[in-house]
Amino acid sequence: MPEDSDVPAVNDNPELSTSDAQRVREALQQYWGFESLRPMQQNAVAASLANRDSVVVMPTGGGKSLCYQLPPLITGGTTVVISPLIALMKDQVDALTLIGYPAAAINSSQSDAEAAQTWRQLRSGAIRLLFTSPERLFSGSLLDRLPGLGITRIAVDEAHCISQWGHDFRPEYRRLAEIRARLPGVPIQALTATATPKVRADIAEQLALRDHVELVGTFDRPNLTYRVHQRTDVVNQVLEAVRRHADGATIVYCISRKDTESLADDLRRLRLRASAYHAGLSPETRHKVQDAFKQERLDVVVATVAFGMGIDRSNVRCVVHAALPKSVEAYQQETGRAGRDGLPAECLLLYSAGDVSKWCRILEGASEEQGGDPEQLAHKLELLEELRRLVTGSRCRHRALSEYFGQSYTPPGNNNCGACDVCLHESAPVPDSTVIAQKILSCIARASGADPSRPMWYGARYIASLLRGKSSAEVTRRGHHLISTFGILASTPADTLVNYIDQLVDAEALGREHGQYPTLYLNSRSMEVLKGSRAVELRGAHATEASAASEAEPFDAGLFERLRELRREIATELNVPAYIVFGDAALQDMARVRPTNREAFLSVSGVGERKADEFGQRFAGAIDLYCRERGLSTNNPTNSRIRRASPKRAGLSPARQKSFALFAERRPIVDVANAIGLTPGTVVDHLEKFIEEQKPADLTPWVDPATYALIASTAGKLQADRLKPIFEHLAGLVPYEKIRLTLTHKRVTGASQRA
Ligand code: ADP
Ligand code: ZN
Repeated sequence: MPEDSDVPAVNDNPELSTSDAQRVREALQQYWGFESLRPMQQNAVAASLANRDSVVVMPTGGGKSLCYQLPPLITGGTTVVISPLIALMKDQVDALTLIGYPAAAINSSQSDAEAAQTWRQLRSGAIRLLFTSPERLFSGSLLDRLPGLGITRIAVDEAHCISQWGHDFRPEYRRLAEIRARLPGVPIQALTATATPKVRADIAEQLALRDHVELVGTFDRPNLTYRVHQRTDVVNQVLEAVRRHADGATIVYCISRKDTESLADDLRRLRLRASAYHAGLSPETRHKVQDAFKQERLDVVVATVAFGMGIDRSNVRCVVHAALPKSVEAYQQETGRAGRDGLPAECLLLYSAGDVSKWCRILEGASEEQGGDPEQLAHKLELLEELRRLVTGSRCRHRALSEYFGQSYTPPGNNNCGACDVCLHESAPVPDSTVIAQKILSCIARASGADPSRPMWYGARYIASLLRGKSSAEVTRRGHHLISTFGILASTPADTLVNYIDQLVDAEALGREHGQYPTLYLNSRSMEVLKGSRAVELRGAHATEASAASEAEPFDAGLFERLRELRREIATELNVPAYIVFGDAALQDMARVRPTNREAFLSVSGVGERKADEFGQRFAGAIDLYCRERGLSTNNPTNSRIRRASPKRAGLSPARQKSFALFAERRPIVDVANAIGLTPGTVVDHLEKFIEEQKPADLTPWVDPATYALIASTAGKLQADRLKPIFEHLAGLVPYEKIRLTLTHKRVTGASQRA
């Protein structure tokens, strides 16, 4: 590894030497059961092995942990990991212990006996990773004792906590530079999921990094489907979302504690396993909820933002924001908790323009309490406004989020991400939007203009009641039952009308006074709409279909459920979170491979040696029983991931003849599936046969050239002709199907060239 101190701090990507790469691969396989590091992880590990300082920025789920977990396995010595949360530390140590990795934590929640044991291990040099919190580091003698402990690396997790520009500033992180003074020459790796350049620069400066490597990953999370829906009926909207993910967990975020409790009550009444969580609950209650959620005895947690930092459950399948969060950063962080295992997950934001007023009041109130720094308040209001623009915009959500974080975005599909409400065309424009808008605006004009010298403005609910023709003492006292727009939209539900009013505010076709009683007022655009010189587009109900953001190979769902039960059992016995036993990705792969012996078990992605020994027999027993009852084959280590288990692969069936004809016309897979009424999966099977037999010159209609090139070069680089290493290397960005078709094509066309 060259030690080149003249190179600029950015844009150098350290690479692993051949011998390091080999040792890294062995450790990965032995401890984690993974085939290879992702590209960014390789650079981060290489930087660390070259004793360089670095800032590693990857989205949640990007795989930051391996960046600091691997190096000490290769070089020996102890890495100190600074982490803000004790709860997470414990989970991490438990998870590492389960794979046989020597790790420990020093924190305030330990008993004396536990602490003494940790110190003994540390002094003996047996520990590769030592977790601690900044508070613990600077209290007592820990900092003074570090130099005698053979510390060879420092990792600062959640490093954005050091920056006031981040969303999670922790004053005690500011002192971390002292550790540098105490351990000069020990390289520091700072890790965060917060992407803004300002925060990055702040991290480097505060930690006094020297000639550091800056590694910034791709912020897009292709496995997440983003949806922004107008909030119309929150309970049913949440219920539908939870039902779309009945096989996994959902987190629902609310702004206030009261909201979390009432929504959780509603969901429980609908027979969901749901609980509220917020900072106002007793510590015991909070622990109970967290533990139940981690051990999968609870499916839905309805929470304030207090929930999440201490939760690392990797198989959260859905994150719902029942109301607008306070910034794009907060949104990214909270939605980041979905699908950390890389499998498809959904993020649904239920938006109402009223949320913006609510946040303004909260932020202004908080600012006053804290002595009112106008600059800080303005900054926070600006962050809120950025998010409002993003959610009310009608651009692809993946693109908007990436661009917000300063990255360009290339959708996987034809200018379509296929994984957001905009690209999936889920919200339909309301017919006659402009006429409806005119009715609403003219109702506001008439209600407020009874005395034009002293206009009175009213709130959205009141205007909606007039439009619906609902009389009340208030209404008659003001004479509003006499205005011509009274009852003009009588058949539209009140919530829908309030929602239309919100949309008009968002489109700036109507003004709203923020304050305790937000009132509506007409502005110059309202006048243009009323005069007919400006059109308005209102959006209506959403048609949401369960959509998978990325297609993985199918697996036996019944077996997966059975394996989840077993995982839950073991987690309860060991008193650890369920995902620590095995992640969903590993269980799904098990449901494909159906291993009943050790060798097959080890071929499952996410099964290392220790876990194969520890849990192999129990899982094998369950799998064996399940498969025997159903006459299913077992131990298909390569087969199942390479091709669908398809019992009949006989001659050319009529369906196959038809599909071959359509492939010859270069028709896309969905077209062919629709035309002959087959699932896309079966059509892919046919297409593979077609490629083998017909050897088309290119695969453009089915795998675009850029993806083809990416897969081909990855296959070359990894010298792999199996799907799994390539799939993992590309971090799940490219569906299995495309890798499979590309490899088949390469194989058959390569063969014909040689022949
Ligand atoms: P982060 O800390 O960045 O949120 P994690 O370190 O928790 O991400 O990793 C996210 C998920 O990706 C985990 O389920 C982990 O097991 C998986 N993962 C990470 N690196 C790899 C890899 N090289 N191959 C396969 N899976 C990986
Ligand atoms: Zn999109």
